[in-house]
Amino acid sequence: MPQPIPRVEPVLAGRDNILWMIATAPDRYAVVDPGEADPVSRFLARSGATLSHLLITHHHGDHIGGVELLRQRHGGQVVGSKADAHRLPPLDQAVEDGSRIPLAEGMIAEVMSVPGHTLGHVAYRVGEALFSGDTLFGFGCGRLFEGTPAQMWHSLCRLRALPDDTRLFAGHEYTLANLDFVIDLDPDQSETRRLRESFIALADAGRLTLPHPLLLEKRHNPFLRADDPALAARLGLSGQSPTQVFAAIRERRNRY
Ligand SMILES: [Zn+2]
Repeated sequence: MPQPIPRVEPVLAGRDNILWMIATAPDRYAVVDPGEADPVSRFLARSGATLSHLLITHHHGDHIGGVELLRQRHGGQVVGSKADAHRLPPLDQAVEDGSRIPLAEGMIAEVMSVPGHTLGHVAYRVGEALFSGDTLFGFGCGRLFEGTPAQMWHSLCRLRALPDDTRLFAGHEYTLANLDFVIDLDPDQSETRRLRESFIALADAGRLTLPHPLLLEKRHNPFLRADDPALAARLGLSGQSPTQVFAAIRERRNRY
């Protein structure tokens, strides 16, 4: 029996970080990547709730800055990548690819190792919800601070293999900026332009563009289409390997 999509609520922090709160009981939440403590504490106070888990995707400060304070204030198990344990706050559970963390009765977080943005980066899959940290964004991907293009391409291929109706919960709200780049990269995409209009309408209404179905990423995210010969041809990269095409698109994004 597949797990359903859990109830998830966003807490905004920093410039564009989204700290996702996963309901693990009526009065308990797991928080993903608490870069700041106070916005999470305010959310918990409003809901009269405590923390069951603090799930860390990677070691960057805007993803772990609030971990210690939140644990002191609200309790909860700190979960993070074994490979990055030396540069994370003290972990209660050090995880690796394939680890399964019970969050609640019938609710498991499955860990996927997705190196590229950082070497120890992990993603968490809870039912049909994918918490991708800074690996996969709406129509973009994280910068390669530590990994190689080959590692990141492999990681993205693993995420792409998840079911179409998987919901993407990324660590930042970058969708509109990324779609601008996607259309600049490959202007002849009327479907992508229509999609951008629908997300602009959402943003204008004060809503987040996340989560949305992974199917949209498979269709419109160029970083998931580096093995599409038609895209490579339009970019003047025919004959190059998917890793080379991926690296070229990432390079263009860095300069955009
Ligand atoms: Zn990061």
